[in-house]
Amino acid sequence: MTSVALRALCAAWWVAGTAGFDDAPDVRRFEFRETHMGSEFKILLYCADDRAAKEASRAAFDRIAALDKCYSDYDPESELMRLCDRAGGPPVEVSEDLFRILERAQSLAVRTDGAFDATIQPVVKLWRRARRNGELPTAEQRREALALVGFDKMELDPEARTVRLSVTGMRLDLGGIAKGAAGDAALSVLRERGITRALVAGAGDIVMGDPPPGESGWTIGIAPLEKPNATPEQFLSLSNAAVSTSGDAERFVEIDGVRYSHIVNPRTGLGLTGRSSVTVVAPDGTTADSLATALSVLGPEKGLELIESTEGAASFLVWSDDGPRRTLKSTVWSDLPQVQPGGEVIRP
Ligand code: ADP
Ligand code: MG
Repeated sequence: MTSVALRALCAAWWVAGTAGFDDAPDVRRFEFRETHMGSEFKILLYCADDRAAKEASRAAFDRIAALDKCYSDYDPESELMRLCDRAGGPPVEVSEDLFRILERAQSLAVRTDGAFDATIQPVVKLWRRARRNGELPTAEQRREALALVGFDKMELDPEARTVRLSVTGMRLDLGGIAKGAAGDAALSVLRERGITRALVAGAGDIVMGDPPPGESGWTIGIAPLEKPNATPEQFLSLSNAAVSTSGDAERFVEIDGVRYSHIVNPRTGLGLTGRSSVTVVAPDGTTADSLATALSVLGPEKGLELIESTEGAASFLVWSDDGPRRTLKSTVWSDLPQVQPGGEVIRP
């Protein structure tokens, strides 16, 4: 497809969902919040009926909780951790939810040559410890952890729906993709119940359905790097899409004057040190969340190549590693509808 055709297609896709405001006149805004996956999840929805709104949000949060029980690497009883307990053994049959997200993670691992890698947990664990102790992992610890990492050590069989982890001691980590996937699943639950004007946000991962009544989109405010609480610099109007941010603004460890991110480079076993803020817009939350993490590792050049080759994706990056601060965007970013904030602004 030519880039012009692709851009036209994307523009059409982003405005889809803005048609028809045939809602009942007494439609109201509802907001619900709960903590799942170590983050606050927020559901915003428009509905005419109190009880329907409450029941739908309850079902959506229950779905997120069930996925947490499946995906968590903190809970030794999660399906993910029970799978890891069998690393080094024969293939293990897993649930559809687990298989689907592992397939998505694995396909991005292949596309990024392992910059995004769900087998990264042993290294992430070292950096979690570093954050607690304020001490860098030793080279030997990193070597040992890296010996357990590699997407080529995970085999998926879609026919049998089995996963084989080839090396004993391997651990998986879905932290870079799970919140987006949970947002997708929660929005599906709301839609199944007839609530289409809804948004699900798990910290910086936002998944949107149809826009609020009378609006052409949800207004998303993109804040500048290093000042996540400052006034946003850009306002996008989006619906039936997802937006995710990854950056070092909140979760990092500073050791000997160097800031290390909780996102790690699977080649070196080191936390990322360049200051960056990545925003990705994509058709669904699973894609947006995982791409944002992948771009943080890949850096601007390779990262933007990845975005340009992903249907319906756009990205805005602020990057300052060794050189001066750079602001970059993918071709399609400029086609996203920008708005002046009037009503409610959602911030990733
Ligand atoms: P946040 O959790 O702040 O929204 P991300 O979506 O970028 O941020 O995910 C960061 C998480 O992804 C880390 O906490 C870790 O669990 C996991 N992770 C870290 N490095 C990688 C990597 N190279 N590939 C895949 N997942 C990673
Ligand atoms: Mg992510």
